[in-house]
Amino acid sequence: MSGLVLIVHVKPYFFIFNHYRVLQSLVHHSTLAFTNSILREELESLVVTDHLTKLYSRSYLDEQIQQSIERDKLGSLLLLDIDNFKQVNDTYGHQTGDQVIIQVASIIKNNLRDGNIGARWGGEELAVYLPNVPQHIAVSIAQRLVAEVHKETVPHTTVSCGVSSWERGEKSAHRLFIKADKALYQAKNNGKNQVVKSCEK
Ligand code: GH3
Ligand code: MG
Ligand code: MG
Repeated sequence: MSGLVLIVHVKPYFFIFNHYRVLQSLVHHSTLAFTNSILREELESLVVTDHLTKLYSRSYLDEQIQQSIERDKLGSLLLLDIDNFKQVNDTYGHQTGDQVIIQVASIIKNNLRDGNIGARWGGEELAVYLPNVPQHIAVSIAQRLVAEVHKETVPHTTVSCGVSSWERGEKSAHRLFIKADKALYQAKNNGKNQVVKSCEK
């Protein structure tokens, strides 16, 4: 049961059958409106949520970064990619692989503050957007995430992370992604399990 309607009157036997019919129809209509709005909310949350990790979806992340660029003064993006993940799948199977992605996502969620956006960017690639957070702080948050994954995942896993930031004047979320992706690529080349910040302006 999700609702109850109780209609009373001070005078005994006040309501006649016609009243009852009108009220019943009113209740039917409002129940329908209620159910519709609950379903709509569920649908909206499904669209913006990644099913496996319960982080935000990539499209929601894109949207939020674009809005932040128009609204805020600065912001930072972390792109994380699980190291040697193919090997995790090959050694332990895809189900354990999925569990590892979920564990990394939980570590991200536990480190987020209000307004931060943790998202699943692709298969084993996750992203965090930090509105109004400058690069040096974003780098220390990224280092904490990388260290926690190294310490806490079972089976033991590591991640690499690229960090990019923007300041006033930036117009494109796309450029922010390209810069973070290049930094991530460098982190992989430098031996993985580490953070690299983008030096591009
Ligand atoms: P690197 O350190 O360079 O990132 O190596 P890697 O093995 O992680 O990189 P690669 O991109 O070659 O492999 C990623 C693998 O992730 C390939 C794909 O099968 C697997 N994968 C992608 N999405 C999922 C998923 O949702 N669940 C599981 N279990 N595996 C996934
Ligand atoms: Mg990858
Ligand atoms: Mg990988």
